[in-house]
Amino acid sequence: MKGFILRLQRAKNEDLIVTILTERAMKSYYRFYGARHSILQLGYLIDFEEEDEGARFMPRLRRVSHLGFPWLYRRNRLMAWQQFVRLFEPHLRDTESLEPFYFELLLEAARRWERQNPKRIVCESYHRLLKHEGRIHPLDRCYICEKSLNEEVALMQALIPAHPGCIYGPSLPRQKLESFFESGKCTWLEDSEIDLIYSTVSKGL
Ligand SMILES: [Zn+2]
Repeated sequence: MKGFILRLQRAKNEDLIVTILTERAMKSYYRFYGARHSILQLGYLIDFEEEDEGARFMPRLRRVSHLGFPWLYRRNRLMAWQQFVRLFEPHLRDTESLEPFYFELLLEAARRWERQNPKRIVCESYHRLLKHEGRIHPLDRCYICEKSLNEEVALMQALIPAHPGCIYGPSLPRQKLESFFESGKCTWLEDSEIDLIYSTVSKGL
């Protein structure tokens, strides 16, 4: 099975509890410490087998191999990846089974991570996620005061639009945001505008 490591927690001794997103589920596994075991890191894509037999409270992780991406050796790219991947575990927690959408979203992002600006990939991936979950808010009314929005729009968590004055936040031109919401592409956005969307995404999915 292939999956992305979304969370690593220390257990007793040097053992680990590893939360993995596969095509169909997000699940936690127990990994006993072994000096010869490969090192696992947040965000890694691994191939593995699960061993249920004799497992008291959690299946165990077996035959792990790491499927690398070239950017793993670029520190900034890896850190940005880990920040992005970290957002998925709280979002998908308590879901029993999943559609392959989330795994595929991460896989596609990982493939683009080497060549494109990670912040732009995060913004576009997040737009796809909101659209998939039917959570795109139309850019007509402010979420706080419910009056019409003007030319400048501020964003709350989940890219919910508001008046800059209503949330005391920085804003973007509404037209640009509209083309981003419609196309899912952030080609027309300046880096500073991307930063604003990215920081909103970083608060949680
Ligand atoms: Zn308002």
